[in-house]
Amino acid sequence: MFLSERIKAIKPSPTLAINAKAVSMRQAGVDVISFGVGEPDFDTPRHIRDEAMRAMEDGFTRYTAVGGIPELKDAIIEKFRRDNTLSYERDEVMVSCGGKHVLYNLAHALLNPGDEVIIPAPYWVSYPPIVILAGADPVIVRTGEADDFKLSPESLETAITPRTKLLILNSPSNPTGSVYTESELDALAKVILKYDIGVVSDEIYEKLIFDDRSFCSIAQVSEEVKSKTFVVNGLSKTYAMTGWRIGYVAGAREVIAGMTKIQSQSTSNPNSIAQKAAVAALNGPQGFIQTMVQAFDERRRYLLQRLNAITGVHCNVPGGAFYAFPNFSYYFSAKTEGTTIKGSAGLCEHLLAAARVALVPGIAFGDDSFIRFSYATGLGTIKEGLDRIEDALGKLV
Ligand SMILES: *Cc1c(COP(=O)(O)O)cnc(C)c1O
Repeated sequence: MFLSERIKAIKPSPTLAINAKAVSMRQAGVDVISFGVGEPDFDTPRHIRDEAMRAMEDGFTRYTAVGGIPELKDAIIEKFRRDNTLSYERDEVMVSCGGKHVLYNLAHALLNPGDEVIIPAPYWVSYPPIVILAGADPVIVRTGEADDFKLSPESLETAITPRTKLLILNSPSNPTGSVYTESELDALAKVILKYDIGVVSDEIYEKLIFDDRSFCSIAQVSEEVKSKTFVVNGLSKTYAMTGWRIGYVAGAREVIAGMTKIQSQSTSNPNSIAQKAAVAALNGPQGFIQTMVQAFDERRRYLLQRLNAITGVHCNVPGGAFYAFPNFSYYFSAKTEGTTIKGSAGLCEHLLAAARVALVPGIAFGDDSFIRFSYATGLGTIKEGLDRIEDALGKLV
């Protein structure tokens, strides 16, 4: 059968693929430890599930308004006011089937063939394919450990061309856990205003933040910056609701109208029951988040200390999300039974085979020196996984 050129240009999500591989090994009876998962290992809080059951019982099971029920839009508006001191009206917000779907709709509403989108690397795996599927060109700008994987205003300015349309920012970051400070965002905003480009700010990990760091959205810098920013957020990570598929966006009303048009011709409304549950999540008690963050923080500290104790490995302190992104390049020319390990993908393959540990290679995020560890898994599992990794690395020559 024939396939479109667009589809030939992209690959399936590597993080979902690694997870699927770990699951199938497990089904075959192999005891695999996975650091691959990109979702909280907590159950959706009780009161949110109860609201979904009530919605079903009440017959809230039909099509809804394409861009989300007014009640949910109001809960989102209130969330932005409460948490970010940002004010929006109903026609400036929209609900889609997860944050990923928001990004997909945004790309199609904003981009033309030939447009460039600046994506700092290491990046979330889905940004480049989403841009490519919209016919535009991703422009990857490298960042490194020394600048805590954060884009500097200088490198942003260097990457801008007359074709630049958008910058995608992600703080806290998947995969690095880096969190931009207010003054760093201020400095980036100056460049954005100077060249009049738009910003997509992916804030899905807003609430998963550690130590004394505080979250800041680039939309908070000024009204002018806010008018050029599309704030993307969702319920998946904050409320352990990955399977419910609710994400949302706030930004310029004509773009929201464009995105609603795309959604009306593709998925229609997000799941009606999940929308009711989302209202309960946003308006209800928020104590669950703190409990989850404390558990993540304990694991983060343990994992960080174990990683930095491995010969040749270095890991920056992740300030948010639930990932660590250590540099494993020390092992890249190591030999095992006559073959040489090649890059992050080679090392991950070796660790899956020799240590039965699933990890995502940095190359999937645009930097081959690193490996991503998700610590959305129990402390005991993290300990056992690290023991296995140390053991396997110790046998390399
Ligand atoms: C998980 C994730 C999302 C969105 O997830 P959804 O389940 O589609 O809401 C968006 N951006 C990043 C960086 C993520 O890690």
